[in-house]
Amino acid sequence: MIRRWAASVALAVALTGCGGDTAEVGAPDRGMIGIAMPTKESQRWIGDGENMVAQFSLLGYRTSLQYADDDNALQVSQIQQMLDDGAKALVIGAIDGTKLKDVLAAAAAAQVPVISYDRLIRGTNDIDYYATFDNFKVGVLQADYIVDALRLARGGGPYNIELFAGSADDNNATFFFNGAMSVLQPYINDGTLDVVSGETSFEAVATQRWDGKVAKERMARLLGSTYTGGRRVDAVLSPYDGISRGIIEALRESGYAENALPVLTGQDAELDSVKLIAAGQQGQTVYKDTRELAKVAVQMVNSLVGDAGEPVVNDTTQYNNGVKDVRTFLLQPVSVTKANYQRVLVEGGYYTAAEISG
Ligand code: BGC
Repeated sequence: MIRRWAASVALAVALTGCGGDTAEVGAPDRGMIGIAMPTKESQRWIGDGENMVAQFSLLGYRTSLQYADDDNALQVSQIQQMLDDGAKALVIGAIDGTKLKDVLAAAAAAQVPVISYDRLIRGTNDIDYYATFDNFKVGVLQADYIVDALRLARGGGPYNIELFAGSADDNNATFFFNGAMSVLQPYINDGTLDVVSGETSFEAVATQRWDGKVAKERMARLLGSTYTGGRRVDAVLSPYDGISRGIIEALRESGYAENALPVLTGQDAELDSVKLIAAGQQGQTVYKDTRELAKVAVQMVNSLVGDAGEPVVNDTTQYNNGVKDVRTFLLQPVSVTKANYQRVLVEGGYYTAAEISG
């Protein structure tokens, strides 16, 4: 059956729009799945949504894909609308993971299963499963890159470093930061790494809404106040490519040459940042294949709605949402640099070589 539907998946994808209720022509109608995504500001969420719509269509589900512009109230009303429209299940990439309690209580009352997608929804019993990447490991990979790059390229120390974290209302941001600090803290403690600004707590370095402009302003402030008299920053821990690009802008505007930027990390393998990696300006990003995450979420929904057995999970202890340990499937993130982006991203079919060089 699936093979027959696959033949028309191209048509299904062609019929798929963002924000509409979509169905594959000719496939059995197994009901509508609500997909609530946080924002279109970051490229990854657009890919996440499109991948899920295509995969659900293959299995005969219609979808309602909505983006909430990073507005919590809008996300709540979008989810309520999905329930009103008879959604059979919800897949939710939350904005603020604590703001969905009431609408998820309504989902539970209607016996609609909920998959927390990429970001953990907190403070409620009314989520069923969590599909994500190993978020702690994302931070470890970023910090490992900094440690390797500083050792290999420069040898010795001490080095000056500044730290950035993601949005404090996103559970992932804490995991990324804790993962990175598990590697960096010993070097900070022994003086090999000097956080010259002194801003080291998560609260001090968090970036509201993962906004590159907010990060640019903070980096400019640090450069203007701390890095005076010829003092230079050697490395910057950045949790996300959009933040990294803001940091690069601030560095350039304060006089750093393009070929002498600090060691800099990122996440998501966004096309603009992969171009910067190819050009040697951003050192690293952490690639998370959103096609794989979509598959996990779709498998979970199909198990719950389509009676296809219990969803597959591989972690039941790492993610407690304040109310319960949430059954989780963790995918593995991959560190990408100039040395391996061709193999991982181009040969892996994520981007074409022309997209990166264009
Ligand atoms: C995601 C990251 C993304 C960030 C900003 C996090 O929750 O896990 O992949 O970079 O949000 O959109």
